[in-house]
Amino acid sequence: MQFIDLKTQYKQLQEKIDKNIKKVLNHSLFIMGPEVKILEEKLAKYIGVKHCITVSSGTDALLASLMALNIKKGDQVITTPFSFIATAESIILTGAEPVFADINPRTYNIEPSLIEKGITSKTKAIMPVSLYGQCADMDAINKIAAKYDIPVIEDAAQSFGAEYKNKKSCGLTFIGCTSFFPSKPLGCYGDGGACFTNDDKIAKKINEIKNHGQNRRYNHIQIGINGRLDTLQAAILLAKLETFPMEAKARKQIGERYTRLLKNIKSSALPYIQLYNKSVYAQYTIQVDNRDAFAEKLKQKNIPTAIHYPVPLNMQPAIAQTDKKYPIAESAAKRVISLPMHPFLSKEEQDIIVKEIIEALD
Ligand SMILES: *Cc1c(COP(=O)(O)O)cnc(C)c1O
Repeated sequence: MQFIDLKTQYKQLQEKIDKNIKKVLNHSLFIMGPEVKILEEKLAKYIGVKHCITVSSGTDALLASLMALNIKKGDQVITTPFSFIATAESIILTGAEPVFADINPRTYNIEPSLIEKGITSKTKAIMPVSLYGQCADMDAINKIAAKYDIPVIEDAAQSFGAEYKNKKSCGLTFIGCTSFFPSKPLGCYGDGGACFTNDDKIAKKINEIKNHGQNRRYNHIQIGINGRLDTLQAAILLAKLETFPMEAKARKQIGERYTRLLKNIKSSALPYIQLYNKSVYAQYTIQVDNRDAFAEKLKQKNIPTAIHYPVPLNMQPAIAQTDKKYPIAESAAKRVISLPMHPFLSKEEQDIIVKEIIEALD
């Protein structure tokens, strides 16, 4: 059994994907080829925002956004301690300091009521993460940000295709950043990412930054990065975007079916999706008491699992803000475990997983 099954997806889309790749090989415009612009237009339309700027990864989407906001040494950015390293890494790469606010124990997303006490005169942005495919409470977060006149950047690396109050993730804040890493809800065949915004000025700036800070060829008005999305990846994403809405729907159904089938295990252990949210279930993550033993029992039955994430960001050696405590994130980090999750997970496979989980918990 696969944790994420990319091969089945490829088999289903093979004709279209191969054709798109071939087209790029033939025109050989590998950097900033025509597919990149077409993809940006389609993605902007899908999200419902004015601008999409594709970039070379989700990490670079965050970094280019922070750079476009002129965030630098001496600044602070408020974010969650319960995420992939890239969230805090992008902040630290600008020279700024990540300031963590603990998470909500049910959604695993940053708890809005804990943000305000972290705000100082140095705070230059808030970066919530929409973890596991469910959006953070953006209305509450945007409201706090507006009060202090600071921008919000959504780390939507796991939530492309999710909805918050009937609006799409990536279009909920000043800038939305996503990742097309192969295992994300919309993945390419290598690294890729995108920034979304309705703001013309910031869109132009991100566009320049991702291309070595140039506003025209060999005229570099700021220091940027080599952060462009490959034309080949754009061509692959164009093929995959067509069926993505169906996949997002399948993910939601599979996630909800897990929850129905697992309802007899302690309900507090199951994902809690706010009524106003539609999760894209980048991960289906539960909590268990003896995680290592549990994972080992499933492994014996050929069921792969993963841990997102075993260590809160403040406790990572590279960050080491160990004097500060985030008890909810710490507790979650010890207990969470993600189950196989992809749009092609069959009912039969899911039934086996559920049966083995119930046995392993006995
Ligand atoms: C995957 C991920 C990223 C980084 O995306 P890459 O494309 O791998 O650089 C950032 N934040 C979160 C929450 C992620 O899951």
